[in-house]
Amino acid sequence: GREPVMAVNYADFRDIAIEDYDAVVVGSGFAGAVSARQLAEEGGLRVLVIEKRAHIAGNMYDEYDEAGVLVHRYGPHIFHTNDQRAYDYLARFTEWSSYQHRVLADWYGTYMPVPFNKNSMEIAFGDEKAARLIEKLVDTFGDERKVTINELRAQEDPELQEVADFVYQNVFLYYTQKQWGLTPEEVDPSVTARVPVFISRDNRYFQDAFQGMPVDGYTRLFENLLGHEKITVCLSTEAESVFDLVFAGREEDAPLEAIHIKGVPFAGPIVYTGPLDELFLGRFGRLPYRSLDFVYETFDETYHLPCGTVNYTVTEDYTRITEFTYLTGQESDKTTIMKEYSHSYDDPESQIPYYAIISEENTAHYNRYLALTEKLPNFHPLGRLAEYRYYNMDVIIGRALALADELVGEGA
Ligand code: FAD
Ligand code: UDP
Repeated sequence: GREPVMAVNYADFRDIAIEDYDAVVVGSGFAGAVSARQLAEEGGLRVLVIEKRAHIAGNMYDEYDEAGVLVHRYGPHIFHTNDQRAYDYLARFTEWSSYQHRVLADWYGTYMPVPFNKNSMEIAFGDEKAARLIEKLVDTFGDERKVTINELRAQEDPELQEVADFVYQNVFLYYTQKQWGLTPEEVDPSVTARVPVFISRDNRYFQDAFQGMPVDGYTRLFENLLGHEKITVCLSTEAESVFDLVFAGREEDAPLEAIHIKGVPFAGPIVYTGPLDELFLGRFGRLPYRSLDFVYETFDETYHLPCGTVNYTVTEDYTRITEFTYLTGQESDKTTIMKEYSHSYDDPESQIPYYAIISEENTAHYNRYLALTEKLPNFHPLGRLAEYRYYNMDVIIGRALALADELVGEGA
């Protein structure tokens, strides 16, 4: 069952006395909110959360739009995990629906399940040929197996080559170009491996043991996470503007020696979940990210699309459309859809860095920033931005719990 709700303590950063806090957390997404909760609850620390946006919940933030439809403002978020601890932990703060996400590719007006599976194969090749191809796939990889597009493309058998070519051309190529500005060969293999070919009749996007949506929405979940007597949240407050960074020398690579807040060195744990290059004002050049624009439309109908998300894998200049009422289970005579347009991230003032662009070069670039922090033992970069990784929500929750264990809990 859910714990009693306590309102979040909000304060204006100008009004707080830093001496009243034992720990500082930058950011209120899952990395920040779970860290704050654990430091407060397990460690008994008084935690100050600094959040640059005018609201909590990071990219999970949801709210009701003008038509009364619950929408996600920073990309569609479906919770799925095999991590029992992360799942049990969140169950304290929300009840879950049992929503199972389904995605269809719009293939020149014909819908095909993604991940590409046995059902997609029949749509693409016709029943008879599909039966032969499926048999060959099962013989080669085993039934109910997931195969990455790269593994499939490496096959020498001409019929498997044909499947690989079809999936490459019709599922991955154009979508990946839109999403990353790169071809599937150019993106890190781990990126396309997120959406394998699935030798199955299972049309779900994820097969994790647990998946669902918070029944009262993510923002409520975050209110429950951050609603604690030892946690204070300062919104519209940027770390760069309230941290005075003290370096060990004047040279560009001189490590961080201390962080002063309101004129005094802060000695307690600082969990930082924003982009690391932003904290250091981009001194080694900005880290590359992809950003997104979201375009919403509301219709006077119950449903507009056939399922929660449609991926446009061969046409259109947006990558996908999500219809929220499928995800949330909300019953409404109006429906709101959202198109996602991907583009490069070039202005930290007006854009949001959504996706780190994983590559050896970019990781090396990131590591140069990370090295600046490694001499400051109370500074802990955590999360999708601060670690420059492509992490799902559940992984972030797991990492936040592990860090808190290290700082104040079992591992301390
Ligand atoms: P965030 O949620 O980004 O939180 C970081 C917070 O820090 C933000 O609130 C930000 O405003 C704040 N901040 C940043 N810099 C500063 C600063 N300098 N000072 C103060 N505050 C700062 N995961 C899934 O599991 N399932 C999904 O379906 C899914 N869909 C996604 C769809 C999209 C389009 C995207 C982009 C991501 C999706 N994810 C999904 C991943 C999920 O968003 C991340 O795993 C999650 O947001 C990570 O939490 P976080 O706390 O690390 O980062
Ligand atoms: N992808 C694709 N076509 C699809 C779905 C995914 O090419 O129909 C590729 C694309 O490169 C994408 C990656 O697989 O960026 C990961 O997809 P996922 O749906 O996991 O992306 P996210 O939801 O994280 O944006």
